[in-house]
Amino acid sequence: MTNICLLGSTGSIGTSTLDVVSRHPEHFKIHSLVAGSNADLLARQILQFAPQLVVVATDSVRVRLIEVLTGLGLDRTDWPQLEVGPQARVDAATHPDAGFVMSAIVGVAGLEATYEAVKLGKRVGLANKEVLVASGKLVTEAARASNTEMIPVDSEHNGAHQCLRAGLRKEAAKLILTASGGPFRETPKDQFESVTPQQALNHPTWKMGQRITIDSATLMNKGFEVIEACWLFDFAPSEVEVVVHPQSTVHAMVEFTDGSVVAQVSTTDMRMPIQYALTYPDRWDAPVPRLDWKQTRSWNFYPPDFEKFRLLKLSYEAFATGGTATCTLNAADEIAVEAFLREEISFPGIGAVVEDTLNAVSSRESKTVGEVLETDRESRAVAQRMVQRRSRKLVGA
Ligand code: NAD
Ligand code: MG
Repeated sequence: MTNICLLGSTGSIGTSTLDVVSRHPEHFKIHSLVAGSNADLLARQILQFAPQLVVVATDSVRVRLIEVLTGLGLDRTDWPQLEVGPQARVDAATHPDAGFVMSAIVGVAGLEATYEAVKLGKRVGLANKEVLVASGKLVTEAARASNTEMIPVDSEHNGAHQCLRAGLRKEAAKLILTASGGPFRETPKDQFESVTPQQALNHPTWKMGQRITIDSATLMNKGFEVIEACWLFDFAPSEVEVVVHPQSTVHAMVEFTDGSVVAQVSTTDMRMPIQYALTYPDRWDAPVPRLDWKQTRSWNFYPPDFEKFRLLKLSYEAFATGGTATCTLNAADEIAVEAFLREEISFPGIGAVVEDTLNAVSSRESKTVGEVLETDRESRAVAQRMVQRRSRKLVGA
């Protein structure tokens, strides 16, 4: 029986993880659920999975959760221990009874808990890509020191992990990550100014949380994934290539030294990589319908437009700068995406805010996760100022 700590249980990856877990009650048990603010969903998850420990983001969410649990009539003796805040997230992820940590919080809110779990040598399923974007050096050093492997959940990295099993690491010359191209693949750049949040949230192939959906529309997500891949598999950025593949069926490919390319192909459903991470190195029955090869299909591949999607280019540059530059990249993007969703800045304003912030915050080396989080805070404050400068509301006023 594997006891799971699920960081981000109410999100898109979190609920898909619970779906996979619910199919194998004889193998998996939820030890703790960690979430932000969706008390209603969390209460239903508590009822179904009976965790021992539950952590929420704030006291007011805890109050709301208690109200909902009371309303659902769950006997108080059956309530889990309820905790609040960042230290409680770390305590859940490092609990001696947690054998597997699914890292599926969005943003740096998941960094400390994931880092501490890795440091202790826990098996970690990694969906929360911002952990490696913000702090890849420290987290991968910790994984090496504790001799643990982070199993990627992000579909491209999960695909790459599978492809890399086809040969020795030293025989892998290049990693190819596919990108759906997002909803604006065919939209001319001069129409970007009028893109609305609703249009940007309409991803053609995947259903995901809001932040990653907007990041997929700007290709920031693919930039993060290049950085994530470099840390996870020890590739140089020049060895990681992005290819637009609108069907999102081939997730990743590895080109070996002899020119042979191995691809990983599966349906667009995150339950596949989630189950792979939970059961690795074994493979269990498919949690989702298989590809139907009797259906006619065609797959297209072409290079991305780096001028149109400047955040992809900026990601390569930030990785080359090194130090905390990629932490700033992530922090600035998070602020810019929120501002875009509030309709404070335009769609191309996201890239502009990120670039302005990268130019304003100097990169440094961090020796601790605390120092990384300090840079994160500083970068957010700078990005907020950059948002104000570009704010449509101010311009219109
Ligand atoms: P989501 O927005 O649907 O869910 C995020 C989860 O994090 C929620 O449970 C939320 O409550 C929790 N959370 C947010 N702030 C928190 C805080 N301060 N404290 C505690 N919990 C907090 O996001 P998602 O789409 O599930 O993505 C989660 C992560 O997985 C992201 O890093 C994303 O990039 C990555 N990822 C997602 C997908 C996907 O298909 N959704 C694919 C690949 C990678
Ligand atoms: Mg992905």
